[in-house]
Amino acid sequence: MLNQGIGSWPARRARKTPRRTAIVHEDTHLTYRDLHERVLRLAHALRALGVARGDRVAYLGPNHPSFLETLFATGVLGAVFVPLNTRLAAPELAYNLSDSGSTVLVHAAGHAGTAAAAGAEAPALHRITLGPAAEDALGYEELLAGAPADPLDEPVGPDEPCMIMYTSGTTGRPKGAVLSHANITWNSVNVLVDTDLAGDEVTLVVAPLFHTAGLNMTCLPTLLKGGRVVLHGAFDAGHVLEAVAAHRVTYMFGVPTMYDAMAAHPRWRDADLSSLRSVSCGGAPVPARTIETYLARGLAFSQGYGMTEASPGVLFLDREEATAKAGSAGVPHFFTDTRVTAPDGGPAAPGEKGEILVRGPNVMSGYWGRPADTAAAFTEDGWLRTGDVARTDEDGYAYIVDRVKDMFVSGGENVYPAEVEDALLGHPAVRECAVIGVPDAVWGEVGHAVVVLEPGADAGADGAEILGRLHGRLAKYKIPRTVAFVDALPRTASGKIVKSAVRRAHAPGSRP
Ligand code: ATP
Ligand code: MG
Repeated sequence: MLNQGIGSWPARRARKTPRRTAIVHEDTHLTYRDLHERVLRLAHALRALGVARGDRVAYLGPNHPSFLETLFATGVLGAVFVPLNTRLAAPELAYNLSDSGSTVLVHAAGHAGTAAAAGAEAPALHRITLGPAAEDALGYEELLAGAPADPLDEPVGPDEPCMIMYTSGTTGRPKGAVLSHANITWNSVNVLVDTDLAGDEVTLVVAPLFHTAGLNMTCLPTLLKGGRVVLHGAFDAGHVLEAVAAHRVTYMFGVPTMYDAMAAHPRWRDADLSSLRSVSCGGAPVPARTIETYLARGLAFSQGYGMTEASPGVLFLDREEATAKAGSAGVPHFFTDTRVTAPDGGPAAPGEKGEILVRGPNVMSGYWGRPADTAAAFTEDGWLRTGDVARTDEDGYAYIVDRVKDMFVSGGENVYPAEVEDALLGHPAVRECAVIGVPDAVWGEVGHAVVVLEPGADAGADGAEILGRLHGRLAKYKIPRTVAFVDALPRTASGKIVKSAVRRAHAPGSRP
């Protein structure tokens, strides 16, 4: 049987381009041959620990080559990779380990404390630390050194589960999307077909690998094509600007907050970004001012839209259309289809807003251990409900409006906070903002803006002045009635504003 698992990628790549550099991290450079050998050793070591087809292997730590080695080694065995969010506290981690039924946890030395605390509740769990071996944890490098590098070719079928990837948890408890080897492969194929990503690509990965965009939009397509992945353990705007020049980076993908932080950095003006061939942004609403800043710098800055459940690419704006269709998230990926449904359930007309649905070989089969959530996520005819509102223009280009859950109704009119936030961000004193609906005796709900000011912002930038600028730009019912100033907004690890936490703090009891 043909091996269709992604665990075979390092072997196939080592057969074709053994000497090319696959992964760069700090002082470590791994060629495809190195990667293949290390993956084989780890696979043998995991097998010796009892890991078999279908078993779950979890990983906890910042971006590091061992993350990708563990993913591939797990895949070689037909086992299932479970990347965990490094921000989790020990009880949440224990929940994820037991929810996924993981039997092995590979973790960074810096996470030994939480890993040990969570592991105490799972006595059968094998812990492997990237630091030196300890009484209760095996050492990663020792395990590799002691394991054979003999070939392993256990055929893995396309529909077998490859990973359980947790959603960002922006709207509730994170759900584990079960992504098959075919889902992951097709997403990478979509990326390769829709971009000019090449074998000489140098891809900078700054988003956390445990979230879908960092791993599946950047790393895996690059490694499939034989390019080079430069991993940063954590995002740091100055470090990114330096790394682009130092590594001659050609491609990167990030969330809007990352690009804003880079453009606000003192080194932005003098940074050498001439090697960048394409720059993609997505994962959260992309402010118009962010797009304008990057296009003005002459960069091919384009937007993508996706979700964990779709492995994740759904829409992508071709870089040739980046200026003409600025603000759009593009058209569906090549092998994927979308549909926008009008409130009556039929197809939405151009310009009409409705929920965007997706179907394609990259869409998950369901959530791990949550049959009710899985059933609710799909329409009867098999389309995945995204929970996002979109509209398309006459040419079929889609514009993401906001999440269905964040919309509120004021005086009978639907208000999508993302549109209001985008307008507020046009004010030079506004650094970040979140708009929520708060109860109102007359209108049902009215908007309330929660604003983080730019450091040293003009003292005249009070609430009334900031809101005053929206008159004439937005319909009156969309303009927030009140403003609160805060130092920071609650965000997920992938930089998304946690609206439920904003609502809890500013409109307690209004809705979850
Ligand atoms: P959870 O499902 O746990 O509440 P989440 O939806 O934030 O969390 P992800 O799968 O990481 O988890 O994110 C997908 C969501 O991110 C999309 O459903 C959409 O709301 C948002 N998103 C992604 N790309 C874009 C984009 N280009 N513009 C606007 N929103 C986007
Ligand atoms: Mg979601």
